[in-house]
Amino acid sequence: MQSLWNDAEASRFPGDLGQRVYTSRLLGRNADLVLHGGGNTSVKVRKPDLFGDELDVIYVKGSGWNLVTIEAAGFAPLRLEPVRRLVEIPDLSDTQMVQGLRSNLIDPTAPSPSVETILHANLPHKYVDHTHADAFVAISNTADGPARVREIYGDEVVYIPYVMPGFRLARRCAELFAQYATDKTIGMALLNHGLFTFGETARESYERMIDLVSRAEAYLQRQGAWQVKLPSPVEQAPPSREAIADLRHQVSTFAGAPMLLRLHRDAHARAFAAHPELARISQQGPITPDHVLYTKRLPLLGDDLAAYAKAYRDYFAACQNRFPGQLQQLDPAPRVILKPEWGLLTAGRTARINRRIEDLYRHTIDVIARAEALGGYQALPAADIFDVEYWELEQAKVKVQANQPMFTGEVVLVTGAASGIGRVCVDAFLARGAAVVGLDLNPVVATQLDRPDYLGLQSDICDEAALEAAFDATVTAFGGLDMLVLNAGIFKAGTSIAELSLAAWQETMQVNLDANLSLLRLAHPLLRLAPNGGRVAVIASKNVPAPGPGAAAYSASKAGLTQLARVAALEWAADGIRVNVLHPNAVFDTGLWTEEVLQDRAARYGLSVEAYRRNNLLQTEVRSTDVANLAAALCGPLFARTTGAQIPIDGGNERVI
Ligand code: ZN
Repeated sequence: MQSLWNDAEASRFPGDLGQRVYTSRLLGRNADLVLHGGGNTSVKVRKPDLFGDELDVIYVKGSGWNLVTIEAAGFAPLRLEPVRRLVEIPDLSDTQMVQGLRSNLIDPTAPSPSVETILHANLPHKYVDHTHADAFVAISNTADGPARVREIYGDEVVYIPYVMPGFRLARRCAELFAQYATDKTIGMALLNHGLFTFGETARESYERMIDLVSRAEAYLQRQGAWQVKLPSPVEQAPPSREAIADLRHQVSTFAGAPMLLRLHRDAHARAFAAHPELARISQQGPITPDHVLYTKRLPLLGDDLAAYAKAYRDYFAACQNRFPGQLQQLDPAPRVILKPEWGLLTAGRTARINRRIEDLYRHTIDVIARAEALGGYQALPAADIFDVEYWELEQAKVKVQANQPMFTGEVVLVTGAASGIGRVCVDAFLARGAAVVGLDLNPVVATQLDRPDYLGLQSDICDEAALEAAFDATVTAFGGLDMLVLNAGIFKAGTSIAELSLAAWQETMQVNLDANLSLLRLAHPLLRLAPNGGRVAVIASKNVPAPGPGAAAYSASKAGLTQLARVAALEWAADGIRVNVLHPNAVFDTGLWTEEVLQDRAARYGLSVEAYRRNNLLQTEVRSTDVANLAAALCGPLFARTTGAQIPIDGGNERVI
């Protein structure tokens, strides 16, 4: 492992805290050192308080910040002396510890300081760095891990047998450091957990971390346990969309809420899922206990959800007496699934959490493979993992998480998603917590948003092969489909029937009607498996109840689409799928309404463009966001008992009423 220190770059981060920010980001840049919120760092400074009196302050990484993107504001400043002294209290619950820390913040708006703050405060050095480096945990998580770690670091580090993070760990580290630290000590090795290093400058502390990790990597290389090749997976056909959606349905049932499922079929994932020793190596536990909060203790092998849930409940029953009082059992659904014939699947309530689970598990795969090459992976006993999964600070979070957006864990597919109503529908469903798949002919659909809960696919909805591929991609990325918004449509302006060619008629029918039949047919098997029931919102038109001259093809196509939707509502009610239709009118902030069409229409009604915009009974403008919000509402709980309905959104129209 190379130091990423760069003098020019470092000079842009002035002051003690600036240097702390810089090398924290250097740690964060290397995924083999820390992942996501993992790892933490600190710096001790002297600064005047409000009275001008000099005060010793420790800046510690705040929770919720990632090292790679941390800023000065991501560090919580605390009075050093009282925080250091907390370790003298013989026993402190972690809730009391957090209170003790928070009451010593010198900035009450600062983020919550890391639970390892007391540990940092009790090390005498100015800078302290902490990571869960892969190479170290690979060596540590073996039967003779402690001996191997000692062989690597000799008397340059203080060894800490595994203790759960929190107050007890801080106390144990302070004791062992006082007992064993010498002039040679540059760090601490926390078995089954990670490494600490320290120094008088940010660079010294950071480069000592790189040094300790490099020694672990060199050791793995010498033992032939560095470049580990997983066995080659057998080429297998990908699973059907329905099979994946069915598995997602089951996972959601056991989780008690809709979950997103992501299938990984690359060589790395499939090789591990097909590992001949999978049952032994995957069923021991996480590489560091904090992973349990995302990955659960064990992955599911195969697809027997009921057996997995029973084993999880048994584990809870066996361990729950480790804490006083009543614990709230977490859902018994797996977060990582290994199916030898499919590959790796990850399950999360949101796409962001799902990505995190994937990252953690991919590192887990490499660590397990290296530990195996060293003689055998061996994780901490279940009880130690339980302690982290159910410790009081995590239990407190469970109660806070109840209020999530209404479509959390659900997936919607929107057609015509690059512009107009479709584009705004994307935002409306994202804002309500859904993962969104946007289809459009315009390639912009693929790049218009860069976030894990959005998948944009350039796709021609008139091409069934392209639609098949789009549904494949949807199910691979998110596990299924809960909602469908049929929005894409074309409007060829101002042709009277006397001049309407069959080709123009057919083109409109193909996009506005035929393509939606294909979409509905392909979506049906997935919507049927939606954990909360499938929903379809069809964007039709006021022209259905109240057609106008010059729009025969458009009006007929939308009338056909409405009738198609009504029949779908009849046929699919038994599958729990609701189908409702919106009839918008005069939504002028969409691509259909060019300035030319607007002027033409206004003139036809003898109105100015401005008056034409509000030419409805309520004299109000209907915007695309209004339509998108109604489409989302129709898919939501407010309309849970409504199907086959046609709802105008037109500001009120006498002919419609
Ligand atoms: Zn840690």
